[in-house]
Amino acid sequence: MSEEINNAPNGTESVSPHATNFIRNIIDEDLASGKHTTVVTRFPPEPNGYLHVGHAKAICLDFGLAQDYKGTCHLRMDDTNPGKEETEYINAIKEDVKWLGFDWGEKVYSASDYFDKLYEYAERLIMKGDAYVDDSSAEEIRLSRGTLNEPGKNSPYRDRSIEENLDLFRRMKAGEFPDGAKVLRAKIDMADPNIVMRDPTLYRIRHQSHPHTGDKWCIYPMYDFTHCLSDSIEGITHSLCTLEFENNRPLYDWVLEHVGVECRPRQIEFSRLNLESVIVSKRKLLQLVKEHYVNGWDDPRMPTIAGMRRRGYTPEAIKLFCDRIGISKAESWISYSIFEQAVRDDLNTKVPRVMGVLRPLKLVIDNYPEDLTEEFEAPFFPDDPPKMGHRMLKFTKEIYIDRDDFMENPVPKFFRLSPGKEVRLRRAYIIKCEYVVKDEHGNITEVHCSYDPASKGGNAPDGRKIKGTLHWVSAKESVPCEVRLYDRLFAVDHPATNPDVNFIDELNPNSLEVLTEARVEKSLEGVEAGKWFQFERTGYFYTDKDTTPERPVFNRVVTLKDTWAKIMQGAK
Ligand code: ATP
Ligand code: MG
Repeated sequence: MSEEINNAPNGTESVSPHATNFIRNIIDEDLASGKHTTVVTRFPPEPNGYLHVGHAKAICLDFGLAQDYKGTCHLRMDDTNPGKEETEYINAIKEDVKWLGFDWGEKVYSASDYFDKLYEYAERLIMKGDAYVDDSSAEEIRLSRGTLNEPGKNSPYRDRSIEENLDLFRRMKAGEFPDGAKVLRAKIDMADPNIVMRDPTLYRIRHQSHPHTGDKWCIYPMYDFTHCLSDSIEGITHSLCTLEFENNRPLYDWVLEHVGVECRPRQIEFSRLNLESVIVSKRKLLQLVKEHYVNGWDDPRMPTIAGMRRRGYTPEAIKLFCDRIGISKAESWISYSIFEQAVRDDLNTKVPRVMGVLRPLKLVIDNYPEDLTEEFEAPFFPDDPPKMGHRMLKFTKEIYIDRDDFMENPVPKFFRLSPGKEVRLRRAYIIKCEYVVKDEHGNITEVHCSYDPASKGGNAPDGRKIKGTLHWVSAKESVPCEVRLYDRLFAVDHPATNPDVNFIDELNPNSLEVLTEARVEKSLEGVEAGKWFQFERTGYFYTDKDTTPERPVFNRVVTLKDTWAKIMQGAK
């Protein structure tokens, strides 16, 4: 993995967005030699699902390079599969690319825009004797393709005359033949060591309407024919794709050369993003949505850009992550913690600190006056108080702390609250646990404490050492809310890689925990959807779109690291 991580061994150093890579070197050479005077790239999604974090890597590369070199990047819907593409997906793709902060200007295209041109190019190949109509079935073609060790066999239809091929191809277009009756194939070499080059199919018959071209066509071009020619038509200079297309590059070049187009873009492959405990396959993500393993494409556990947005990940964090992992040709798995660290590093200086109690436990301060409400000034951003201002924390006799912060029988090194022990309530007072109240099942329902009135602000008057600092909210001066905690969607590091296991069985059954009793401090009353906060000691949170004026819903974006180090610093 280290090869993928530019200058960031622990994922915390930020890397210049201009960190060089082998693709930049190629572009630099092409500009220096005068081969190109500008850079034109494209991002070519197939609109058959929502974009995911893997696409984000490709988007950052395609659009990012164009931005840096003051070139352009086209958005092109790769819609050669009729029927599959849906408007919902096309709209989502546009929204996601925009949200990441990229702009295609006027340059939004569809491969289907080029169907006329592509048909012309196909006739051109036929007329040059470089393509033929084959009546073999799909199965026959597959069987005659050979293997890595054996050459393929020529089709019995391979030597048809140009006239016959042209006539048949035109009749294919005219709808004279049923689906699968014929295909158009490139005439290359059935003995080529690269199987992709063994007379690949260029066109197939599909009597199916297309979302863009309607019923105009009943033959549709294949990816390998469409992609390179679309690149050429658009004047793409560098066509970047993932490594699985490496074997297709000779075909990419062959088609451009044999059709005889002037503009010959260069295909360059890079390694795809594999993120641990994440699946990046639209087909599998679609299955999770369709079969209700998640709550839609924008479920905050999904690695889709829509899901990441709803969860509260920021475009800046995603871009920072993409910069850090860099671009290479080495296949690897990236630890999810590298991603999470980028999220923390982005949110750290942007987001106000507040107090929220996830699993409330009532705490009564017996020697505190019944009706008193004190206010403590607390900066939203202790590292730089003027930056975000402050709010007043309301302190009352009854407060809530998190259940995790109390242990009746503490384990060693538990510095939080337990009977007879003292802790600091952040920015308020030092308290001591006197006794607990339990229900008939033995569950603790209340913790009773005393407070040290001389410790106002949380400082011990005699300098005695108080190890633990707890976050809290006032019982009556706080806002009930819902908190959604997320864990990895898959319980294994490399989901969907074991052929003997159904990836559905690899789902993490505890990926979502909904806390309905949570409470946040009063200053968050009426908070709108789409806001970020750091809840002290428990993580970064983002208000979900399910938020109502009465009841905020918080998604935990990511947990905090070094929780204790930070809180101890803040308590000084
Ligand atoms: P999926 O397997 O999820 O359907 P795909 O490659 O078929 O992915 P496309 O819509 O064809 O999806 O992809 C558009 C672009 O995004 C392509 O250039 C592709 O190489 C790139 N891309 C897709 N997945 C990844 C990934 N995991 N990492 C980097 N780039 C990716
Ligand atoms: Mg694809």
